[in-house]
Amino acid sequence: MEIKKILGQFMDSNVFVLIKDNSALIIDAGAKIEDVKNAVGNAKVQAVLLTHGHFDHCYYANDYAKEFNCPIYMHKAGKEIASDPQKNYGETFYIDNFDNFKLFDKDFKLSLSPFDVDVITTAGHSPCSVCYKIETLLFAGDTLFSNGIGRIDLIGSDKNDMINSLDKLSRVEFEIAFSGHGDDSDYARQKRNIALFKRFLSR
Ligand SMILES: [Zn+2]
Repeated sequence: MEIKKILGQFMDSNVFVLIKDNSALIIDAGAKIEDVKNAVGNAKVQAVLLTHGHFDHCYYANDYAKEFNCPIYMHKAGKEIASDPQKNYGETFYIDNFDNFKLFDKDFKLSLSPFDVDVITTAGHSPCSVCYKIETLLFAGDTLFSNGIGRIDLIGSDKNDMINSLDKLSRVEFEIAFSGHGDDSDYARQKRNIALFKRFLSR
């Protein structure tokens, strides 16, 4: 599996394009369509997976869905966030058409051949935060960063949810975590990170 990282247009959010057997998955939607098209090449895009509904992660989601004729997966709670500029922090941005969206509200295994995706809901940073585990890689959105965790002082954030999500993630094994902003990080680093912040928030 090949992983291409594209820098988004807003807040330096990351978009990841995964390619395997001439199929592709796109994780998050903050990067210009031209950049994503270049990364996808001839591969058939199976889906766009959104880690949450903040504007810097979902801005171009419908454009990708239209261009690649594919569904967008997002936590159900993201609908309220993505459709409200105050809640998605996009100033004037909002999504008003969810026809292409497939919404879910719990953990499940998503098969998008040849990709097998573990969908792990991780509310805290936002009520719609999700991590996607694909093979040995964790796409962590704004839940885990290489040097910390996502903000929990935003509209829709919840400290106790974040504690529970960190607890859940402490039982997930992976090799590398790819975050919604900044650098990726290895399992050992995230093990320490998760334990540290779980303790810190639980005080
Ligand atoms: Zn966010």
